[in-house]
Amino acid sequence: MTGPVRRFSEFHWEDTDLLAYKEEGSAPFKAITRQVLFHHRELKSELRYFEMAAGGYSTLERHQHVHAVLILRGEGQCMIGGEVFDVGENDLVTIEPMTWHQFRANAGEPLGFLCMVNVERDKPQLPTPVEHKALAENPAVKKFFGE
Ligand code: MN
Repeated sequence: MTGPVRRFSEFHWEDTDLLAYKEEGSAPFKAITRQVLFHHRELKSELRYFEMAAGGYSTLERHQHVHAVLILRGEGQCMIGGEVFDVGENDLVTIEPMTWHQFRANAGEPLGFLCMVNVERDKPQLPTPVEHKALAENPAVKKFFGE
């Protein structure tokens, strides 16, 4: 049985499973793991820790539910609503409803972040080829995508 305190060591919390980011093949992503830190029946939100190895990235997606993100490890970039931002330790990122977003560990090191979400949430949407192309019309986003 897990006690009230779970110790942290090397970006892993004890008694916490190191999970795949998503179901394999459900959406594009690379080199990213997930730990669910808090999921309590009294809370309507869930706190997860995601970590990308250097070169990894999260899925480019949008959805109705909101994300509250705190960068906990490393440096990299995120694309939020068609703009690219450098992010590093302790930066906070708010992702509003139906806003395209993606994180990339593109600074040669791992990028890890806490992400708070509603327990009940809608399924992420992936961009159509036309939507992807429209985002990549911004040269900074095109570079971010590695295109
Ligand atoms: Mn998302």
